[in-house]
Amino acid sequence: MPPADETSDPPPLEPDAERFLLELLDLPAPSGFEEPIGARWREEAERQGAEVTTDRIGTSFATTGRGRGPRIAIVGHLDEIGLVITKINAKGFCKVGSIGGWDPVVLVGQRLRILGTPAGGPVLGTISRPSIHVLDAAARDRTPKVDDLWVDLGVSSAEEAKALVRVGDPAVVDARPERIGGPGSTRIVSRSIDNRVGMFVALEAARIAGERGVAAEVVAVGSVGEENGMGGATVASYALQADRTCVVDVTSPGDMPGASDFGDYRMGKGPILTRGATLSERVTGELIAAAEAAELPFQLRAKGLRTATDADQTIKAGGGTATCLVSVPARYLHTPVEQVDLRDVRASIDVIVAWIERVADAAGGS
Ligand SMILES: [Zn+2]
Repeated sequence: MPPADETSDPPPLEPDAERFLLELLDLPAPSGFEEPIGARWREEAERQGAEVTTDRIGTSFATTGRGRGPRIAIVGHLDEIGLVITKINAKGFCKVGSIGGWDPVVLVGQRLRILGTPAGGPVLGTISRPSIHVLDAAARDRTPKVDDLWVDLGVSSAEEAKALVRVGDPAVVDARPERIGGPGSTRIVSRSIDNRVGMFVALEAARIAGERGVAAEVVAVGSVGEENGMGGATVASYALQADRTCVVDVTSPGDMPGASDFGDYRMGKGPILTRGATLSERVTGELIAAAEAAELPFQLRAKGLRTATDADQTIKAGGGTATCLVSVPARYLHTPVEQVDLRDVRASIDVIVAWIERVADAAGGS
């Protein structure tokens, strides 16, 4: 891994791949409303030569190397956190509910893209609270709850509001992906890095293994409903009966001010591989051995309890699948300014491909 200040390296991702990742980051897909992003992901997978399918609840599958060897599932959830319109008042202001886990502090003052609306396209709303000049003293000192927030649609009545949005319309914060960090930087800031990065890594790993002719059947899985606990990965895992599963998600590094003692995990130092908790020690051992043999960077983490990812589900779904977890370090998760380093995305893909090759070799390379 080159030092962080090295700027002459080739970009971590091929230009087409990077464009696709940025496109995924910009598509909205709050839990329960993953259909458009699943369709785009499958379209790209098909263009790359994978066999694609979807299950009854919208989880998407892209398979390479069918029948070539052990079935290996690489799971990245499609959905992101968001909000949903729960009420429209007489003056046309809306209340919202959380989809997934929000810190409401980050919501105040944001623009919303409200989706699936009667207006046809996305509708702009702002998450508003009265300005400091008129906010009463008690409210000023209190941390807001999602319940305290109102969405302003720029209208004056319920009637006007209802022409634009309906109860049940989902929304995401309108925050687009951008480069951050100056010339040569490999960092991106965006909403939805959790978990566009994971679904992208899963597809790239399947594509590369397929193109190299690795003796494994690799199924990239874009699962639905991770952020709201619905568990598309559970259903998918039951159906797939894979020999092994690798879940790809993001996790917080410890290298930011104000983070509680999360361990010495850093941006730019490779994926975080987790031992313990609900994971298969055997398969995690294969993953670590593959990364070491290929001299790829990684950071090791231990978890005593659950991982709070799809891995907690895939290991016990159906007959159970021995599962490992690859986490891409990303700062400020569940905010509109999530940050990831594309070198970590690259290293995550490479570690997973190295592991797939190792598993295929051990299975006899047929
Ligand atoms: Zn996630």
